[in-house]
Amino acid sequence: MMIYSIYFFVIGLIVGSFLNVMALRLLSGEDFVFERSKCPNCKAKIAWYDNIPILSYILLRAKCRQCGKGISIQYPIVELLTGLLFLFIYLNWGLSLKSVFLFVLTSLLIVITITDLKEEVIFDITSIPLIPLGLLYNFLNLGGENMLIPAIIGAIIGAAFFEIFSRIGMATVGQYAFGGGDTILGAALGAWFGWKFLIAILAMSVFFQAIYGIPIIFYNMYKRKDYASLWAMAGLLFAMVVSFFSKYLTYLGEPLVAIFVILMTFLLAGICVYIIFKKMRETQNHTMLPFGPPLVAAGFIVMFFGDYVSRYIPF
Ligand SMILES: [Zn+2]
Repeated sequence: MMIYSIYFFVIGLIVGSFLNVMALRLLSGEDFVFERSKCPNCKAKIAWYDNIPILSYILLRAKCRQCGKGISIQYPIVELLTGLLFLFIYLNWGLSLKSVFLFVLTSLLIVITITDLKEEVIFDITSIPLIPLGLLYNFLNLGGENMLIPAIIGAIIGAAFFEIFSRIGMATVGQYAFGGGDTILGAALGAWFGWKFLIAILAMSVFFQAIYGIPIIFYNMYKRKDYASLWAMAGLLFAMVVSFFSKYLTYLGEPLVAIFVILMTFLLAGICVYIIFKKMRETQNHTMLPFGPPLVAAGFIVMFFGDYVSRYIPF
């Protein structure tokens, strides 16, 4: 139904506008339910006609009507994104209880993404409710048949993954690798999608994080003139490439050569990782990249393309 599609898109725009406000007020500690919207700069109350999703941003040319201060592009982006996600949920699952649950999940994931991107915090009020809601979702068989037990296992694995890696981070480089919010978000995604999809989400989010994280790590090492770490990173990359292609060596009819090459690359990789960790421990000053946004992105991929993703899960 076309009219419903437009309806849910518009509802999404309006909800997105509220999520922007909710995220910013959580960050600033203000009451996010009853206060009228104000310009963050001049504090002037924003009239309803200046508060229309997307449209007002364009009509006001991204400037406050009172003081002329620029309005962040975050507002229309979040509104449009929420509108599109609500539309996709409607197109996939129609007018159903499942859609209602997914609207709630989507809304909270968006607030989590904003606060994590802006200040690297995930508020408990936006993450903890997702765990019981996810279990309820599966208790009602909305995520598929007999998904409650996989969901409970997913929640446990999600929490354990981040707790264990945080502790490994503390033990090796003297810093927690993840924030406490990631533990709750991991448990929540497990509770909604079950342990199999959770593992796919973790794998995808590590991959996403690597795509934009590795260049930043390299740049920081370069800026610090930390050439030992840079060489170790290069060595690690080399070891990864060689071990990836080493399986082809066996076709040459020289399995012993292949085993030798693989052992040497493992040795090289081990030395490189040791150097990197040692340097990280010494400097104690590394950029922490928020892990919430890639987790959320992977969660949405599983939400909309779960059937496709499950074909690539080998178990
Ligand atoms: Zn203003």
